[in-house]
Amino acid sequence: MLALTLVVAILCGCVHVPSPLSPHLEGSIGLPHHGVLTGARELVCASATLRCLHDNNRHFGTPRFVASIERDAAKVAEQRRGSILTVGDISARVGGHLPTHASHRTGRDADLLFYFTTLEGAPVTTPNFLHVDSDGLAWDPSSKRFLRIDIERQWLLVKELLSDDNARIQWLFVSQPVKAMLIEWARARGESGEILTRAMDVLWQPSPPAQSHDDHLHARTACDPDEVTSGCEPFGPVRPWIAAIDAKAVAIAVPPATLEALLEDILRPIETGNARASR
Ligand SMILES: [Zn+2]
Repeated sequence: MLALTLVVAILCGCVHVPSPLSPHLEGSIGLPHHGVLTGARELVCASATLRCLHDNNRHFGTPRFVASIERDAAKVAEQRRGSILTVGDISARVGGHLPTHASHRTGRDADLLFYFTTLEGAPVTTPNFLHVDSDGLAWDPSSKRFLRIDIERQWLLVKELLSDDNARIQWLFVSQPVKAMLIEWARARGESGEILTRAMDVLWQPSPPAQSHDDHLHARTACDPDEVTSGCEPFGPVRPWIAAIDAKAVAIAVPPATLEALLEDILRPIETGNARASR
């Protein structure tokens, strides 16, 4: 399949695909809605803390992003024993168009279904994508009963994703009523201003014709600097806390002493030039 992608790429002269002419392209290549994926990792669909809604070949993403989903689902389960995150589609093994989705093409998008309880508050395994109304209730046709979105566990997942430097969450698309419930809950819990600010920014109901996302959380990760050099094209807002993580990484990678030496090297010819000019 990858070979076929390469051949198509060469024939059509596309730029967002790996080819012998662009050997540096790898991983998440292109944009969330236009591109391909190589070196993908498949989500572990059968664990104690995570399951996939369907058994299909749509759970591939960048290794970094997939690991973050697994890690943060596990962190929710550490705090609320028995919690299982149900995951919908991520991407196909080699990315590209995924039927029924506009994005999900480069391993940077994941559909995370909501956590639910019964009306009495008992946790249940999420049976499917269920539309949550502004009262927090959702009709489950399979069990012919209403379920309630579990805002407590849902917030824990949002908080873990937003506190996870490697998840690099740029967006968590979700309906406005669910966002309002999450923010209200977080405020009532006394969460920090920083985490609230992050949540306010990334939780977002997309405008029509995109669906309102009242039945799942659509997580999108931002490219990291290494991924950008390999073909990951940044798209959309740069989150300040992610920019801060990258700035810190650069500062650690280039020790101050080296920076001083670099500056000296840069300035020396100018000083020499000035000295000549003043003669
Ligand atoms: Zn989605």
